[in-house]
Amino acid sequence: MPENPAGTIDVRNLVKVYPGGTRAVDDIDFVVNEGEFFGFLGPNGAGKSTTLKILATLLKKTSGRVTVAGHDVDHAPEQIRRNVGVAMQTAGLDDLAKAFDFLTLQGRLYGLRSPMARERASELLELIGLSSVAEKKIGTFSGGMRRRLDLVATLVHHPKVLFLDEPTTGLDPQSRFTLWDHLRRLNAEEGATIILTTQMMDEADRLCERMAIIDHGKIVAEGSPAALKGQVGGDVVTITITQPESPEERDALTVKAQSLADEQPYVSATARVQDGLAVTVQNGGAAVPALLRLLSDSDVPVSNLSVASPTLDDVFLQHTGRMIRDEETGGDEMNNAMRPWLGLSDGG
Ligand code: ADP
Ligand code: MG
Repeated sequence: MPENPAGTIDVRNLVKVYPGGTRAVDDIDFVVNEGEFFGFLGPNGAGKSTTLKILATLLKKTSGRVTVAGHDVDHAPEQIRRNVGVAMQTAGLDDLAKAFDFLTLQGRLYGLRSPMARERASELLELIGLSSVAEKKIGTFSGGMRRRLDLVATLVHHPKVLFLDEPTTGLDPQSRFTLWDHLRRLNAEEGATIILTTQMMDEADRLCERMAIIDHGKIVAEGSPAALKGQVGGDVVTITITQPESPEERDALTVKAQSLADEQPYVSATARVQDGLAVTVQNGGAAVPALLRLLSDSDVPVSNLSVASPTLDDVFLQHTGRMIRDEETGGDEMNNAMRPWLGLSDGG
């Protein structure tokens, strides 16, 4: 049997049933290639952490076959641990330690000699943009800084594979964006294969080359963000109707516009939104002039018209019939507003 390259992950028929009987992971298969940035996207309780813990040899699987960095989790957990970095949700940092000392100690724990450990600590602080606070106590750091430090602490031994369990949960938007930048650099500059779990659509979308969407312990979709969104089919055209004074008139205009749009062969769905209509079409570029002409010929005054692509929210919705709800996904008003326009939900 050929050995897998050091940075790859191969998961076959993985099942995890907890002692209480919960089937947390229900027969999943996936492969992550060397150097890839791979996302595991799913709501709370989907089985993300369970999967990651099994891959990181922190938890025993019920059945299936898992190799990480070329080693089987059952036969060679020690080799795997030497080749992976793990940042789980409940990480502990020593508030009293200085950042530089903390990282140096981590290096020593991983068997680096003192000068090497110090060199690596400096390098990592630089990588994560914390060189200027190297001599500050960790207790004085912001949440985002702690998360970054915690992240590089997993890198002291140059792991080939990095497991990150919801690394930005609980961070404010600015800190999340900063961390995203650093994650991209870790992937590019350290060449590490990264598996990241998240409940946040935008995070998976921005960071991951490929992802698996997991729900109730099963992978319901897999692919690049672009491919997954492409599968939803089509674009969404938002039409804002110039609003007359009376509510009755407004209503009549919208109803008229909607029934006109519904009759067009290139329209696959319509939904009423604030001040107008959302129309799902095969090809936004072709549909826009056609829709404009149609409405103008029928005396429906249009004040604005825009085209947007489906989001990962719509992908999740299509595959599960539900939406990932997560209060942390703060900046998603736009995505939420888009949803009914896709004809994928009644907005409920
Ligand atoms: P996620 O990380 O996607 O939120 P988890 O892997 O933590 O999901 O959990 C998946 C399922 O397994 C959930 O139903 C959860 O309640 C259950 N679970 C997680 N850990 C344990 C455990 N130690 N014992 C029993 N059930 C667990
Ligand atoms: Mg989890």
